[in-house]
Amino acid sequence: MSRTKVLVAQEAGACYGVNRALDMVRAALRDADGPVHTLGPLIHNPSVVQELEREGVDVVQHAEERPGGTLLLRTHGVTPDEEELARRSHNLVLDATCPFVVRAHRAAEQLTREGYQVIVLGEPGHPEVEGTLAHAPGARTVSSLDDLGRLVMGRRVGVVVQTTQSRARLRRLAAELIGRCEELRIIDTICEATTLRQSAAASLAERSDVMIVIGGRNSANTTRLAEICRESCGRTHHIELPVELDPSWFEGAPVVGVTAGASTPQQQIDEVVLAIREMVGE
Ligand code: SF4
Repeated sequence: MSRTKVLVAQEAGACYGVNRALDMVRAALRDADGPVHTLGPLIHNPSVVQELEREGVDVVQHAEERPGGTLLLRTHGVTPDEEELARRSHNLVLDATCPFVVRAHRAAEQLTREGYQVIVLGEPGHPEVEGTLAHAPGARTVSSLDDLGRLVMGRRVGVVVQTTQSRARLRRLAAELIGRCEELRIIDTICEATTLRQSAAASLAERSDVMIVIGGRNSANTTRLAEICRESCGRTHHIELPVELDPSWFEGAPVVGVTAGASTPQQQIDEVVLAIREMVGE
């Protein structure tokens, strides 16, 4: 009889924004006249993107690459210039940007309009962060407290946050900014799906001997989940597909915890859980 239990985090896997984008692309495939493309990968999950490609949805890197037809704007948003180009070059543009990402864009615009020096807490170069920066001319990205040393701090500082950051990071940044400027305004744009998945993952990691985190390696929220799990469970592995599982990971592990990023569909979670159960004989 197996001594290993496999537990799945209470909150894990595909979120509202990802499900909405997948519903939109499938409706476009069904109803649209002509080809359907996405501007950049629709979501940060390579196997789902490949599956969409097999169904006929190609990823383009620039709107003008394949003019005409239907173009979906990716879940994590685009810059205003990219959107304008998309609308000029395509018959139909469907905006699959998650409403919580749009909220971060609006917050950055508002702070800029009100005269704050805008800081975006997030990963430099991430498409969501690039989109937010483009809505706030002059804004700068901060990914760690070290980056603050390179900024000339204004009198009034406004902060918005990449939706997938952790609140612990935001608290550390806020504590560091207090005393460095006269006025500090923070608009917390971390999305609730992120917070719920992070706290469920942290709580499961504390009780687990091994943690498996499922999701794209290019997914910011999945990478953050893996970091959080590693804080209390050293045997944490970030995988995309069941084929990456190694039976030796589970040796002498009474409890295996499983969580998944916000762009991981339930079916992928089920496949990984089944593969682990077969390996440990649960
Ligand atoms: S993680 Fe949050 S912001 Fe990102 S797509 Fe999902 S709901 Fe939207």
